[in-house]
Amino acid sequence: MRSVNAIIQELDRIVSHPRVMLEKYLGKGKKVVGCFPIYIPEELVHAGGMIPMGIWGGQVSPAIAGKYSPTFTCSIMRSCMEFGLTGKYQGLSCVLLSVLCDTFRGTSQSWRIGVKDIPIIPFIQPQNRESKAAKEYLIAEYRSVRNRLEEITGCKITDHALSKSIEVYNRHNQTMREFAEVANEHLDVVSAKNRHAVMKSSHFMEKAEHTGIVQELIAGLKALPVCEWKGKKVILTGITAEPNELLDIFTANKIAVVGDDLAQESRQFRTDIPDGDNPMERLTDQWFLRKGCSLVFESHRCRGDMLINQLKENNADGIVVCLMKFCDIEEYEYPIIAQQIEDAGYPTLCIEIDQSTQDNEQSRTKIQSFTEMINDRRP
Ligand code: SF4
Repeated sequence: MRSVNAIIQELDRIVSHPRVMLEKYLGKGKKVVGCFPIYIPEELVHAGGMIPMGIWGGQVSPAIAGKYSPTFTCSIMRSCMEFGLTGKYQGLSCVLLSVLCDTFRGTSQSWRIGVKDIPIIPFIQPQNRESKAAKEYLIAEYRSVRNRLEEITGCKITDHALSKSIEVYNRHNQTMREFAEVANEHLDVVSAKNRHAVMKSSHFMEKAEHTGIVQELIAGLKALPVCEWKGKKVILTGITAEPNELLDIFTANKIAVVGDDLAQESRQFRTDIPDGDNPMERLTDQWFLRKGCSLVFESHRCRGDMLINQLKENNADGIVVCLMKFCDIEEYEYPIIAQQIEDAGYPTLCIEIDQSTQDNEQSRTKIQSFTEMINDRRP
């Protein structure tokens, strides 16, 4: 059995070099389909025997993305465009994009014009989730995605295979939730960076393969003595919390991450696909169960309450809002959730996530000040 550290290092390597995984799958004759953030029905891709692979940008100072994306575009979409335009995603059969905000809408058009060798399949997940017509509409959208995937890749997607893929994804969700719980007993080993590596690596691996590795990791962690963490604990919320250098600042200040509500991480795993007879309907129903996310409309927004519950359940000291630069959606929601959390008696810290720079010094200063503040509040 491999050591916990060896497993985490492997996952960290995958996160640092996703291209290696892309080449690995292509080398095995697999078709690989790129999945833009945030909620792609990957199960359709998986059911066709293909590999869904996450497209979450990366730290890059865009040189040519500006031809298509203005400088006030969120940095994650700018970096995705930069990588698309510079051939970093070559090998993908196509990409899937759900138009969840105006930036996605612009990106879907820019991609079509700029990245001609990788076809894009855009689709819409309806925001008015209370209308009866919304479900019919989404089923039609997913059918159209399924048909386009079959046309472009030549891979057949059957209902039987889709039902099996749904089980693979639900099992993966459960495994990731278990990891998040077990990790909190071993905060000496599962640092902020290590936790992120386990979570993010799921975007670059076939899900059953990733489930196997995370289960091996969970078994390894359970065999270790429980750690009595003496430092502080926080919950992260936002789109992403990267890069590693940023996460290392938490560790340097003896802060552990004991939960998250990040679009790249736990939002991916917290909503299972419900039971049912028809796999397309099941896949559709998952969209209507999602909650507490800035990209999903709710008449009563419950993200603040969900974060307060996470704080209580994990005995955490505060919330760190990782605000993606130029993400209007998250910027609108930030003051509302910050007020709710502070009314509940917990502090919040807001740091900016910007994939176009390597400079984390402003965040370092903020995290240091936040550490002093929570040390004073909860000795
Ligand atoms: S939700 Fe925010 S981060 Fe995501 S594409 Fe839209 S603006 Fe960018």
